[in-house]
Amino acid sequence: MLVIRGGRLVDPASGADAPHDILIEGERIVAVERPGAIAARGDAEHEIDATGMIVAPGFIDLHCHLREPGGENSETIETGTRAAARGGFTAVCPMPNTRPVNDNASVTRSIVERAQSAGHTRVWPIGAASLGSKGEALAEIAAMQKAGAVAVSDDGHPIATAKLLRQVMDYCRSLGMPVIDHCEDSSLAAGASMREGPASIRTGIRGMPAATETIGVGRDIQMAELTGCRFHVAHLSAHASLEMVRVAKHKGLAVSCEVTPHHFTMIDEEVGYDTHRKMNPPLGSREDREALLEGLADGTVDAIATDHAPHEPATKEVEFDRAPFGVTGFETALGLALELVHTKRISLRRMVELFTVGPARVLGMQRRVAVGEPADLTIFSTEHRWTFRAAESASKSRPSNGVFRDLLADSAA
Ligand SMILES: [Zn+2]
Ligand SMILES: [Zn+2]
Repeated sequence: MLVIRGGRLVDPASGADAPHDILIEGERIVAVERPGAIAARGDAEHEIDATGMIVAPGFIDLHCHLREPGGENSETIETGTRAAARGGFTAVCPMPNTRPVNDNASVTRSIVERAQSAGHTRVWPIGAASLGSKGEALAEIAAMQKAGAVAVSDDGHPIATAKLLRQVMDYCRSLGMPVIDHCEDSSLAAGASMREGPASIRTGIRGMPAATETIGVGRDIQMAELTGCRFHVAHLSAHASLEMVRVAKHKGLAVSCEVTPHHFTMIDEEVGYDTHRKMNPPLGSREDREALLEGLADGTVDAIATDHAPHEPATKEVEFDRAPFGVTGFETALGLALELVHTKRISLRRMVELFTVGPARVLGMQRRVAVGEPADLTIFSTEHRWTFRAAESASKSRPSNGVFRDLLADSAA
């Protein structure tokens, strides 16, 4: 038995927002009561005093890269999920761009088994849409689903053609699985390292226009309408993409989207030549960020997802054009999201929704704190001040201190 006492329960599913005591037996919640109602009993082996803290459903990260199998120099399931747990996540969804690609049941199964023995969070793999994510033939989607895959994506690349996407969506619709796409027109993205605009002109770094993303979003929404499949936009970064999602939702289509902390925090003008600010999709304009903040507040955005993309530190110590895309995110996502709460861009309840009920809905799951539910909880403080130190990160990747230190230095997170 475990009692979590006095924490402010914020549960978007029930609307609860008040101090509660929560009693847990084994892996289940057995009581959710007003403070003091659960008497101190001898059989409560452990007690956590959560007074002054927020108790929420466990956070889900819909989008990350754990690099195992094949990329263990950058991250492993053990180190990645340790970082995720430190960041407040209890479930993470790793993308399939491992080596080998997670495009069949045996790779899915090996990830699930590795996570059960070495992981610090639940791991819900995302299977590849096409074999090898090469965009040619369908991957073994049904078999991967049986082995534990919760969605499909060829993240890193867009699903190559509209014809293949239609096949994937037809198939996933019958399986009840969402299709997640890294929306991009590859011909516009080729050779570019940041967003095209005044900042790319000033720095001389080759840019890709926002249309690189919006062309993909438009294609995919049309295909979702044609097939009736659930479709989720990965790491949405552009204002115009968000507008398309908003229209699709108004039409009643099963379309959803996620936004990353780096896209709602940083903009293209801040890229400089810092390879730790090189990600794909690239950081957008000031106006894009403002639109994302509005979408986070008004419900157009369904989830905050990290796109935690670890790289061996040395690979980022090169010229901007040659550095790989991606930044870590597990340990800083909650702090950056709390900045939005402190600056009154979103409410605390909305923030919790974006980490819990929102991503669960994308996967066709529920997330709530109630009797009989799994004891899957995230406890955090809104007032604790801390500084992100890359050297202390649990991840194998080492983002430069500067990227997040600047952002978090004054945050009470
Ligand atoms: Zn991507
Ligand atoms: Zn990704």
